[in-house]
Amino acid sequence: MKLILLGAPGAGKGTQSARISEKYNIPAIATGDILRAAIKEGTELGKSAKSYIDAGKLVPDEVVIGIIREKLASDSCRNGFILDGFPRSIPQAEALDQMGVAMDAVLSLEVPDEKIIERMSGRRVCHCGASYHVVYLPPMQTGICDKCGNKLYIRDDDAEETVRKRLETYHAQTEPLKAYYAKKGILITVEGQEEVADTTRAVFSALASVE
Ligand code: ADP
Ligand code: ZN
Repeated sequence: MKLILLGAPGAGKGTQSARISEKYNIPAIATGDILRAAIKEGTELGKSAKSYIDAGKLVPDEVVIGIIREKLASDSCRNGFILDGFPRSIPQAEALDQMGVAMDAVLSLEVPDEKIIERMSGRRVCHCGASYHVVYLPPMQTGICDKCGNKLYIRDDDAEETVRKRLETYHAQTEPLKAYYAKKGILITVEGQEEVADTTRAVFSALASVE
């Protein structure tokens, strides 16, 4: 299964991609996670990406296309993969086509903007990749990751002003991908639900028609 997850920042792509990855036993590739890891390590990639991310803008296409090209060439992606956060613009989608990668489905997680803003203000993340919400998906112990026991933190780009900017970027540059993939006949839309488990159920039942 080769799958793309589309959706606004904070729509819950990361959470759902982890569930799908488990069920189908395929790796999830999240460009946001890769970029944040590079920032943390202080690499050249990280240094150039940070200013874009903190401003709520997209990192330049060439940069993320290079990352994905390298990932998809690796052995672990042979039996399929989930792309979370890529492509995020039409040129990125065209680059993926040019790599000769035929996607099976593009799943768009639909969540209204007001809901997104409410969700992002409560988001807490862990360095291990786990993600929580103070109300909707709290960890067992406040501020501590269930999976690894490390301290949770708030992402720099989850500040309200940056979230609004990221939503603007999403509508202008990423949302047109829905029409792009609808035209190819592989777009599936799923409404994000209040409960994570309900969204997962809707996602799995949508994917059942793809297998
Ligand atoms: P979210 O989906 O919640 O916005 P991500 O972790 O996917 O968070 O991405 C965080 C930031 O990383 C984005 O706002 C953007 O600046 C950058 N980024 C991630 N993926 C891409 C991409 N495919 N193209 C350009 N920039 C990206
Ligand atoms: Zn953790």
